Amino acid sequence: MRHLILSDIHANETALDAVLEAAKGRWDEAVCLGDLVGYGPDPNEVTERIREISVATIRGNHDKAVAGLTDFEEFNPVARAAVLWTRQQLQPRNLEYLKELPKGPIQTDGFSMIHGSVHDEDEYVFAPELALPGLQDAPLQVVFFGHTHIQGGYTLRGKEMGVLQFKSASGNPLARLMIEEGTTYLLNPGSIGQPRDGDPRAAFAIANLQERVVEFWRVAYDIEAVQSRMTRVGLPEALALRLSFGR
Ligand code: ZN
Repeated sequence: MRHLILSDIHANETALDAVLEAAKGRWDEAVCLGDLVGYGPDPNEVTERIREISVATIRGNHDKAVAGLTDFEEFNPVARAAVLWTRQQLQPRNLEYLKELPKGPIQTDGFSMIHGSVHDEDEYVFAPELALPGLQDAPLQVVFFGHTHIQGGYTLRGKEMGVLQFKSASGNPLARLMIEEGTTYLLNPGSIGQPRDGDPRAAFAIANLQERVVEFWRVAYDIEAVQSRMTRVGLPEALALRLSFGR
């Protein structure tokens, strides 16, 4: 079974389309690690697409904020503006869908899914010391997480931790990771709709755990088309600009 691992789409339909096109014929089931909406101009389109294709989806902090499940005072002003705009745009059935999304961790075919960390769905795991407790308590050998918008991850083998970075400056579309017996993995497919690791291309992963391999992909998409839609609907300029830099 090949799983398409999607995360942090953030209402960017153009990026999601590019990912689905690149991944065509390479996966059997899709899953989503949360943050379907927030920041981008296409919340209904993305929510509907994920409802259609994903067999397991968990909620992210933006989904919760848009659905009114959390107050979002700690969001910065532009993120807050996007939450309010998104809430107004969403059709009631899509809003209801976001509200009903389960919280991670959930277990699916051979791996576990979380948005933030194993212990806290809202925690950002962006350093080894933050990854360690989750690796020690990992529900399964392979855990996929999102939230940081940084493709890569962390490993634990005995007492030894490792950091996985897939520097794609070379322009390679994908990096292959072999899953080794006796090692625990916390893996981030990266963000589709708003990457923050310096590479503006949409990020995702394809896992084939029977064959013990995870592929980390990058795919270019028409960023300017998304930026002009954002400008047209009045989303904050800073959110549109950052897409060009992947920051
Ligand atoms: Zn996110």
